[in-house]
Amino acid sequence: MSEFIGYRCSLCNTEYAPGQVTYTCPKDGGNLDVVLDYAAIRQKYEINDIISRSDYSLWRYLPLLPVKDPGGEGTPLRMAGWTPTYYPTRLAEKLGLRHLWIKDEGRNPTASFKDRASSVVVARARQIGAEVVVTASTGNAGAALAGMAAAVGHKAVIFAPKTAPPAKVAQLLVYGAQVILVDGNYDSAFDLTIQAAEEFGWYCRNTGYNPFTAEGKKTAAFEIWEHVILNLKRDLPPLAVFVSVGDGNIISGLHKGFKDLQALGWLQKMPRIFGIQSEKSAAVANAFFKGTEEIEPVQATTIADSISVDLPRDGVRAVRAARQTGGEYITVSDEEIIAGIGELGPVGIFAEPAGSTAYVGLKKAIALGKITPEDPVLVINTGSGLKDIRAAMQAVPAAPVIEPTMSALKKHLGI
Ligand SMILES: *Cc1c(COP(=O)(O)O)cnc(C)c1O
Ligand SMILES: [Zn+2]
Repeated sequence: MSEFIGYRCSLCNTEYAPGQVTYTCPKDGGNLDVVLDYAAIRQKYEINDIISRSDYSLWRYLPLLPVKDPGGEGTPLRMAGWTPTYYPTRLAEKLGLRHLWIKDEGRNPTASFKDRASSVVVARARQIGAEVVVTASTGNAGAALAGMAAAVGHKAVIFAPKTAPPAKVAQLLVYGAQVILVDGNYDSAFDLTIQAAEEFGWYCRNTGYNPFTAEGKKTAAFEIWEHVILNLKRDLPPLAVFVSVGDGNIISGLHKGFKDLQALGWLQKMPRIFGIQSEKSAAVANAFFKGTEEIEPVQATTIADSISVDLPRDGVRAVRAARQTGGEYITVSDEEIIAGIGELGPVGIFAEPAGSTAYVGLKKAIALGKITPEDPVLVINTGSGLKDIRAAMQAVPAAPVIEPTMSALKKHLGI
């Protein structure tokens, strides 16, 4: 924690002391990267000091996080992260890959990747004495904030579009957050949240605005490093990591995590990061394809609500995550996204549409020759399929209904 020495603007590189700014760069609104004192961390810790800790949650990486230990032992806040990394050999064979892992972020306490960000932001709120934390959300960020705040008795206010999937809205309400649905899209909820936070003195968690969300999300990179990269044979190509992109904060957080490890001298080969977007919400991919960092808003309509964003709030860093690591952006159709849910299910993984997006992005990358059989690949399922049952039901045929008799059964089975 004492290794948190300030912020650096991702656009103009201006550096700020920890107490000098709260959200984005005052000069140009750029996203702020948290700056750590890597030399000091290296002096105190070796790899083994980190990976031998008995804390099986994202808090095992506390020495690399810019927050103090939030306490809350025994609560879901302390148990976010440390999600399973599966090695689905049948699926790998089907795709023609030698090494495939799927990291299942649906196994977080509120069932999405967002718990990583929300637990670290709640830790920060407790540290700075902020009584109310507020966020705009398409659903998962809000559920995560509501759940992590509830775990330690903190107050949370959530703004979500009224069109958010019912399961996500139910989560917000059940965790006891103050929930306000807006008659508008995620982007309008986002702007309202910032105004409300300013006027009422609330601490704002908004994605691509609060610099601590990416710090929480980077812990997934640490786990990928610990679970997969440290065990990879040295002569293999670098790991290719596939993740879906909406605001671009998860992909930026992953990149930050790998950069932290590299700065510490603990990571030899930077993974290639592949960002996957729906064709119907492709603002970051568009910028990548054009070769710029200028993010032009789109009118997002994808069924993958978690990545449906008109104006990505972390677009610049999201473009760089792929560009600076030899990765790519790939866009996929909503039909492919739905079909992907039906392909992951039979290997035991239930993904929400935004999770399937990363998987079908991998399929496309293989078809395009951007991934070869030798490449070790890790796909992140960012959220549980239980989050969006309506979408799941579109991926599979309906079950038959029969009379409860053997004759009806035999007729149905054709026996
Ligand atoms: C938020 C979210 C994403 C996208 O993350 P961004 O930081 O907005 O790019 C992907 N999948 C799920 C399930 C999410 O909740
Ligand atoms: Zn700046």
